[in-house]
Amino acid sequence: MILYAVVSLGAIGVIAAIILFFVAQKFKVIEDPRIDEVEEVLPAANCGGCGFAGCRNFAEEIVKAGNMEGFNCPVGGADLMTDVGKVLGLEAELKDPEIAVLRCNGSCENSPQKAQYDGVQSCFVANALFSGEGGCAFGCLGCGDCVEACDFDAMYMDKETGLPVVKENCIACGACVKACPRDILELRKRNKKERRIFVSCVNKEKGGPAKKNCSVACIGCGKCQKVCKFDAITIENNLAYIDPIACKLCRKCAPECPTNAIWEVNFPPKKERPVVEVKTDAATKSADVTTEKVAPQKIEKTENDIAVKESPDLKETNDNKENTES
Ligand code: SF4
Ligand code: SF4
Repeated sequence: MILYAVVSLGAIGVIAAIILFFVAQKFKVIEDPRIDEVEEVLPAANCGGCGFAGCRNFAEEIVKAGNMEGFNCPVGGADLMTDVGKVLGLEAELKDPEIAVLRCNGSCENSPQKAQYDGVQSCFVANALFSGEGGCAFGCLGCGDCVEACDFDAMYMDKETGLPVVKENCIACGACVKACPRDILELRKRNKKERRIFVSCVNKEKGGPAKKNCSVACIGCGKCQKVCKFDAITIENNLAYIDPIACKLCRKCAPECPTNAIWEVNFPPKKERPVVEVKTDAATKSADVTTEKVAPQKIEKTENDIAVKESPDLKETNDNKENTES
């Protein structure tokens, strides 16, 4: 009896195994071996900065696409994308390196506290409940959702200003941009020598209300737009925006801004123009020479002789510099 049961169970097992073998053969998915090769090149950060669910998913999609258009790994940058291109036998589409910038300067000093928030320390929650402690309904709420979202330790909250600071090791994965409920953070080109010019404000209110809540708010006066020779500045909803592609970093706009809403980061101080004596027409005609003096160019106060105005990300650069020097 026992022998009969063992034989019949063994026979069922063998038949089931044969059926499973044929089913597996019929429906087997042959995976492109290049997916593994591409995945090996990727940094395994799984940050989602590329727009895909993780490094494996990125590898699958790029192999499936058969081209590199629109694919970029912000963690590895151009070098890594070149290596991916080598694996796939394609030419990499290289993207300019970027960094996150904070488009709000509503520090405790510039936007003094008008209300107190005692709720959950989350910008997402605070945004649903009130305008913000400084009263600006567009500005930074200061609870640090962006800092929480950063997997690369590239941000921190500055206790003095109450604003987040982006460090130079930012890899532009965009996690902070997605986490901010107020769309204050933006990825911008790093440019040569890490120089950047941008309007550090996103307030869309008219001048009066905007200034009432923050002394450095953009009031949409358009003075910056008028002096820009490259049509890089647009004014929409009372707010100026500097296009990072069209901007040639000429620095004409910043001194025009009556509220200091435009930030120039990592620029050297402007050079003083020598005083030159210019002969007037009358002077050339007469032996009695009269002269008029050309006024020296206005020089702005500088911090550590690096930039005209200090920004949070510049502050980090300077701090690092000081640390290295000490
Ligand atoms: S930038 Fe946005 S996410 Fe970050 S602290 Fe300010 S409001 Fe919150
Ligand atoms: S000059 Fe300043 S306040 Fe006026 S629109 Fe430009 S950024 Fe805004």
